[in-house]
Amino acid sequence: MDTQRMQGIGMTSRRTRERLAARLESAGVQDSRVLNVIRQLPRHLFVDEALASRAYEDTALPIGHGQTLSQPFVVARMTEVLIRDGIPRHVLEVGTGSGYQAAVLAALVDRVNTIERIGALHERSRRLFRQLGIHNVRQRLGDGYAGWSAAAPFDAIVLTAAPEAVPAALFDQLADEGRLIAPVGGGGAQELRVWHRQDGALVEETIESVSFVPMRGGIE
Ligand code: SAM
Repeated sequence: MDTQRMQGIGMTSRRTRERLAARLESAGVQDSRVLNVIRQLPRHLFVDEALASRAYEDTALPIGHGQTLSQPFVVARMTEVLIRDGIPRHVLEVGTGSGYQAAVLAALVDRVNTIERIGALHERSRRLFRQLGIHNVRQRLGDGYAGWSAAAPFDAIVLTAAPEAVPAALFDQLADEGRLIAPVGGGGAQELRVWHRQDGALVEETIESVSFVPMRGGIE
């Protein structure tokens, strides 16, 4: 990606980013910290150039390999739920994809660890983080079913692909008082659920219906 593209579209899209943040706010996103990040982050850089003109619509976009960059409303919603009782310091994301959700989190928390199972997406997001000067994201090409035990515990864990059930390994890597948010269920229609670890017990809450790509095992 060349510097001209980054600067050129970045400049012209400032107003469209504002418009996206306003749309998310009227759709119910309330956290101003999250809206400010959405206002600043150049979402068009996280998709192919051919889709850049659609990057500030509130819609999921294809990123190749049968995967998508999630709808901005869902990214914002998941982020505000994760930070609503205080900013977590250390977050694990399963499903790096384009890198957009990781970049949103990286603007708010100290450290993000993110795992992706598709090599081409892992590499592309690595280059993009470097170009954007995002230095607090650590990446791994791997299978998120196992989490990232060497970097655990995490104050928050976010899954951006849907498992049938959240793998036990991920709950094991959640710190006390930590939160885990995940779309759960098969068949393209899932529920977004959040678990809060309190005094060793997990308290579960359902947020809303969502539609995510399925979580898959192995590496491609
Ligand atoms: N957070 C991403 C973004 O901002 O673009 C969303 C990407 S997409 C909705 C979900 C991603 O999860 C895909 O890139 C997919 O390859 C990845 N994925 C699915 N199963 C996985 C697993 N077991 N481990 C790691 N990544 C996985």
